[in-house]
Amino acid sequence: MRWQGRRQSGNVVDRRRIGGRGLAIGGGIGGVGGIVILVLYLLLGGNPSEITQTFQGEGAVPSTEVGELSEKDKEMGEFVSVVLADIEDVWNEQFRQMGEDYREPRLVLFTGQVESACGYNSAAVGPFYCPGDENVYLDLDFFEDMQRELNAPGDFALAYVIAHEVGHHVQNLLGVNEQVTTQQARMGEREANQLTVRLELQADFLAGIWAHYARQSRDFLDSADIEEGINAAGAVGDDRIMQQTQGYVVPDAFTHGTSEQRVRWFRKGLESGDLSQGDTFSASRL
Ligand SMILES: [Zn+2]
Repeated sequence: MRWQGRRQSGNVVDRRRIGGRGLAIGGGIGGVGGIVILVLYLLLGGNPSEITQTFQGEGAVPSTEVGELSEKDKEMGEFVSVVLADIEDVWNEQFRQMGEDYREPRLVLFTGQVESACGYNSAAVGPFYCPGDENVYLDLDFFEDMQRELNAPGDFALAYVIAHEVGHHVQNLLGVNEQVTTQQARMGEREANQLTVRLELQADFLAGIWAHYARQSRDFLDSADIEEGINAAGAVGDDRIMQQTQGYVVPDAFTHGTSEQRVRWFRKGLESGDLSQGDTFSASRL
């Protein structure tokens, strides 16, 4: 991917190497002053997740706190930021065409564990999107391990993962997540899982939509990149993950569909660029 020198997103929150295994909230608001404000806020009955968000919104964590990042870590952070910016461009335009406003999600880079509105998560869950705070969470160390383990190398594989998670955000904005959750509450586990598979395949389709426009309108992707993406989609099918992961827990991934299904829906988005073709919920064949 030709990504160097491109626009970076202002929505990346870098919480890597902050406070070791500690709470991201301490690092996020930075220093003693932040803690005092947090304590006051808690005493006054505020919601700590709100204050973290406020501080995140103010901009980056002080650079001294991320001083341990290696050159490679920094470069990966920049790559993520460029990819996110490109994904923002595509969804801003797609929503504009629908006559809607696109609310850009934030992407939180973390190491080890992170606190989100969806609870306290370790990197072992893999990348995830939390509808409660509209953030995508990504642990790049975990991602590198996954790449090795699942044999899905390449920078586009990472871009695909980000586009898939932002796809969940798009579903959230369109009300799809909510409908699925409501329906699932009335279902048995097996049926509910099948609905999750359709939700996941639609996120793959939405990743494909991004790749379509990224390839079409900008000198950003080439066909080798796309092959990487297809390989990545295939590598993270439930069937292959179950075969190949040893010691990893990837609960979100157990209900994503098979490799073949994931590749098919990614490709459908990629080739059509047409949102109306992404109704995985009424598709008779997945
Ligand atoms: Zn997913």
